[in-house]
Order: sequence, then C-alpha cells, then structure tokens
Amino acid sequence: MFDVVIIGAGICGTFIARELARYKLRIALIDRANDVSNGTTKANSAIIHAGYDPEHGTLMAKLNAKGNPMFDAVCNDLDVPFRRIGSLVLAFNQDDLHTIQKLYERGIQNGIMDMELINRDQLHNLEPQIHQETVGALFAKTAGIIGTWELAIALAENAMDNGVELFLNRDVQSIHKENSVFKVTTPNSTFRSKVVINCTGVHADKINNMIATPAFKIRPRRGEYYVLDKTASDIVHHVIFQPPRKLGKGVLITPTVHGNVLVGPNSDYVLHDEALETTASGLDFVRQMSLRSLKNIPFNKTINMFAGLRAEPDTGDFIIGESPDVKGFINVAGIKSPGLSASPAIAELVVELVDQTLPALKLNTNFKVTRKKVYHFAEMSNTEKSALISRDPRYARIICRCENITEGEIVNAIHRNAGATTVDGVKKRVRPGTGRCQGGFCMPRVIEILARELNHEMSEILKDELDSQIITGTTKTTEIVEREELTVA
Ligand SMILES: Cc1cc2nc3c(=O)[nH]c(=O)nc-3n(C[C@H](O)[C@H](O)[C@H](O)COP(=O)(O)OP(=O)(O)OC[C@H]3O[C@@H](n4cnc5c(N)ncnc54)[C@H](O)[C@@H]3O)c2cc1C
Repeated sequence: MFDVVIIGAGICGTFIARELARYKLRIALIDRANDVSNGTTKANSAIIHAGYDPEHGTLMAKLNAKGNPMFDAVCNDLDVPFRRIGSLVLAFNQDDLHTIQKLYERGIQNGIMDMELINRDQLHNLEPQIHQETVGALFAKTAGIIGTWELAIALAENAMDNGVELFLNRDVQSIHKENSVFKVTTPNSTFRSKVVINCTGVHADKINNMIATPAFKIRPRRGEYYVLDKTASDIVHHVIFQPPRKLGKGVLITPTVHGNVLVGPNSDYVLHDEALETTASGLDFVRQMSLRSLKNIPFNKTINMFAGLRAEPDTGDFIIGESPDVKGFINVAGIKSPGLSASPAIAELVVELVDQTLPALKLNTNFKVTRKKVYHFAEMSNTEKSALISRDPRYARIICRCENITEGEIVNAIHRNAGATTVDGVKKRVRPGTGRCQGGFCMPRVIEILARELNHEMSEILKDELDSQIITGTTKTTEIVEREELTVA
C-alpha cells in the first residue's frame, strides 16, 4: 500500500512528488499519458512571473510571490535552464499608464521587489525594436524564463532517484474509499493509498467528482503560439507583455531559454478538454495583437505553432486543500497561470497538508538534492568534448544537426529515471527536432536509437501519445533473389 498517490505528472504533480520524497513515505506518481509533462505543462509561455498580476489576497498572488524566488535553487540543483531576464508591461497611451501604475501598486501589495515604472526613453533603450507608439512600461526585474517541461522531467527523475514510483499509461477511472484506504483504479491497475492528491489540470473536476461532492468546475481556455527560429533571437531581450485584458495577460513576445522567440497566446474558451489544435483565426489574432508591441516581427521565421489549455476554475482562484467531505483527498485544481511560477510554493503547501493528514512525517535523511550529470554537448568546450568522446564515442555522432545533439545525449535521456520512450520524449529532454528542420533530418535516426535501446521494432516507436505511430510498414517489399554482377570491361 502507498502512503500517497499523486494523480497527474505535470509541474504540480512532479514538484509535489519531489518535495514529499524528502520524507519517509511510499509514493506513487501516476499519469494517463505515456510521459511526464504531457498536459498543460508542455504548452505554455514558460515565464516565471514576477507576481504583480494576480489580485492581492488570492492564493495565486501569495503562491506566485513565494514561488518566484525559489526557482534559482531548484534549477541549479537539477540543472534546468532558467534565466531572470525581466519583464516589461508596455503602455501605449495614458489609460495604459494608469493600468501599469495599478499593476505596480498591486505588485507592492503582493510583496514583489525590484519593480520600476520606466518612461519611453528608458523603455526604448532597453528594447530598441519596440513599437514607436509605446509611452512607458512596468519593468519587473525578477521575471524569468524557464525550460518548463525540462523542469517537470527533472523533478520526476529526482523524485524517482529518491524512491518515488512512477506509473505512466494509467488513466484513473474511479476512486473509492473503504476503511480509510483509497482505491484508485485504472484499466490496468489498482493503487491503494492513505492519501490521494489530484493534480490533473483541465481534468481535475472530473477526478474530484469521482470521490467528493462536486464543488468546482474547470473550463479549458486555449492559448496558441508561434515559435520563431533562433535567427530572430535579437528582436527582444525581455518578456514583452501588453496591458492585461479581460481574459488574461494578453499576447506576449519573449525569448526562450534555448534562443528561440515565442509569440502568443490568444485566450479562447473551448468546449473540449483535448482541443489542442491551432487555428488560423487564433494565430491571426496573435499576429495582429503582437504587432502592436513590435512593428517588425519576422513571422516568416516561424518554425512551429502549438496550443495549450488553461484550467480555468469557476472560483477564479487556485483550489488547493483537502476536500471538505473526503478526508485525505487533496485537490490541487484550477492551476491556471501563474501555476508554473507558483509550483514550488504549491508543493510546499501540499506537503503541509499531507503532514496534517499523515502525522509525524519522518525526514528521509538520504534525500538526494541533485540528479546524475546531464551532458549538454553543444555548450561544452573543445577540451571537455574530447574528454567525453574518449570515454564514450557516441558523443562524437551528431544526430540533430540543427541543435548539435549527439547520440550519447539521446541514449542517456532514454536510460535515466523517467526516461524517454517516444520521439517527442527525446525531443523534450535533449531537443533533437526543436531546430529549424523540426526533425526532418534527425527523426529517423532518433527512431532507430529508441528502437535499439528499448529493444523494440522501429514500427513500435511512437511520436508522442498512444496511436501516434510513425512507421507503419516497409515501402519496398520486393526481395532481390539474384543480382546481376557489375563487370567492368
Ligand atoms: C497558454 C498558457 C500559457 C501559460 N503560461 C504560463 C506562464 O508563462 N507562467 C506560468 O506560471 N503559468 C503559465 N501557464 C499555466 C501553467 O502552464 C499551468 O498552471 C501548469 O502547467 C499546470 O500544471 P498542472 O500540473 O496543474 O497540470 P498539467 O500539466 O495539465 O498536468 C496534469 C496531468 O494530469 C494528467 N491526467 C489528467 N487526467 C488524468 C487521469 N484521469 N488519470 C491520470 N492522469 C491524468 C494529465 O495527463 C497531465 O499530465 C500557462 C498556461 C497556458 C495554457
């Protein structure tokens, strides 16, 4: 029997798993997907917000303000890319100046440090390509950008290094409680546990309703993005926001930690909690809105588009706490933006809740804070590269020529705890396929390596989720039984 079952391996579930692993507990982290971080955590703006945006007094404000300063340590410990590049909320007119003044005051109320209202000249010095019509900005220096799925994967790996058991392809279909023991049932297994934590993003209301009185509703709200090639990387150096709109923080332009540029998102309520397609109208909205911030955005350098779903709760705030009618069932629901920024603080809060339910938690004195070294070949010096290649020649074989990713890095990503099993799983961990060719050249090699390392047929290797087969059969079936010999006169 488990002490704790965590349902959902997004940023909340993985952070909570890692924090609970600091105690002597038997923990299961389960997800219906075939990889960690396959929900909203893999499709967002990847900003660690400063914390001036959420209304004062909300859980969002409190946990964003507390979470933001916690990223330096965890990203350092787990070798996850994170840079505090600062954010700018632009003002285009007098009304907007009033809005950013209010945001500044709210930031002060929320306890946010290092904010400044800057004038037009200061703004244009910081961002020379910003639209001429801008008249000032709110500059928040503590905002950062992060490798969002890399963090969730690193947290899951480190949680496993510390004894957490990860179960993928487990779609929870029912939860019952008998004699203080929960029974969490999926089509292929049943988990027994003293505590259940619901971290299922846009599905959190359905999971809650399996065991507790329906108390909240989650509506999926979609955001769509353009990803620009690295050759566009000098267009902005900070996260560029527009004044917030009725449905969120508006369209932003931001560098990513790997040197691309992200433009988006829009904000559309959708009916279906799997509606992850991008749309011509949504992307057109993003394009039109973003051109207000920057006149020349090189959309001809677009290398990918994607969409993510915000888990919008009808309560308007994060819902974190033990269900009032089911002891030991803890909801971590309605974790819309700034959920990523708040995630370390959410995990701390949930540990306190578990501590109240399972009294006298004992520290795991063997807890390992860091994980096994990850080699980033492209970032190493020539001397380091030579030394690594002499130890393992697979680091001399470049598989992804856009991003300079080696066979050694891919093999390593497959064999770590919470390792990659799909083409996109490899892409999320070490990035072959994220460059300009988007996998056009390297995908067949990645499939080959996955098949070899996992002892599968190439036709069994999936791109991403279940039923995403890439190779369905051979195309050249004629066997040559005898070949004419080449004779040179
Ligand atoms: C467009 C957009 C932009 C955003 N930008 C930012 C930002 O810049 N900064 C920020 O701080 N926040 C941002 N957010 C919010 C942030 O992405 C989320 O708060 C965060 O990713 C939520 O993580 P989660 O773990 O709660 O949910 P998820 O990542 O969705 O994880 C839920 C998991 O539960 C699993 N699951 C669901 N149902 C079941 C089931 N029945 N059985 C088993 N498993 C199940 C899913 O497979 C999934 O892996 C943004 C969100 C969106 C959509």
